[in-house]
Amino acid sequence: MTVSGLPWALDSLPEIEGTIGARKPAFFLDFDGTTAPLASRPEQAKMPRAVREVLAELAGDHLVCVVSGRDLADLRRKVDLATVYYAGDHGYRIAGPPGSGVELEVGGLEERLALETASYELERRLHTIEGVVIEAKGASLSVHYRLVAEDQRPLVERIVREVVDSTPGLRLTAGKLVHELRPHLPWDKGRAVLWLLGRLRLHRDLVCPLCVGDDLTDEDMFVAVRGWGVSVIVGEGPGPTKAHYRLDDYGEVLEFLRTFVDRKSDKPPLSV
Ligand SMILES: [Mg+2]
Repeated sequence: MTVSGLPWALDSLPEIEGTIGARKPAFFLDFDGTTAPLASRPEQAKMPRAVREVLAELAGDHLVCVVSGRDLADLRRKVDLATVYYAGDHGYRIAGPPGSGVELEVGGLEERLALETASYELERRLHTIEGVVIEAKGASLSVHYRLVAEDQRPLVERIVREVVDSTPGLRLTAGKLVHELRPHLPWDKGRAVLWLLGRLRLHRDLVCPLCVGDDLTDEDMFVAVRGWGVSVIVGEGPGPTKAHYRLDDYGEVLEFLRTFVDRKSDKPPLSV
């Protein structure tokens, strides 16, 4: 389905309520471009205070998980809420609030070594190209080219591909103006969502996962919750989408999330 053909989530609240039914929504929200405006450099992205306040309110009574390609520690710093769950590094690293006992690390030493090798090679071969930002994270690596001149971008892509091809155990995925290198393991944001729901024993008849994201990697969440939850794509999307609804930007995401704070609920809080 193309994004423009999808119903607008804010126009579809009664329908979404119908899907949720007697269950409680559980929120799985991307960071960049979804709960924070996109920034030209990853370190400049900030979660607006209004969004943080709404997430804090929701997390008092719901499962709220921020699911991002960012490094787990970086994501925690940016969101800065002790009551939410974090799935960083595209879900390869998951951590719950203090005392929750929820923690997951997918991949081991071999994967880390492959990423370090690639990181070293990329630094060596890309440092002369202006605007390239290499972000080495715990379990993945991003090569941002948002600030690279248009005519230099094919060269960046060629070098990234060569490095991935020559480093066993890694795979390349695309994001918004970013090349993502990840361990070649059967894991993604969608598996992370399902893992967390399973870990917390939040079954289909208890909760309705509500996934919101703006990029290709978020499609994995949308696919994972098909037939179970509700998914919303933000912005124009990366192409055809598996989402059910659309929203234009993080401001609309904020408005959408606020409707769940205001929602009068007679359902008991979940003990997560
Ligand atoms: Mg995003």
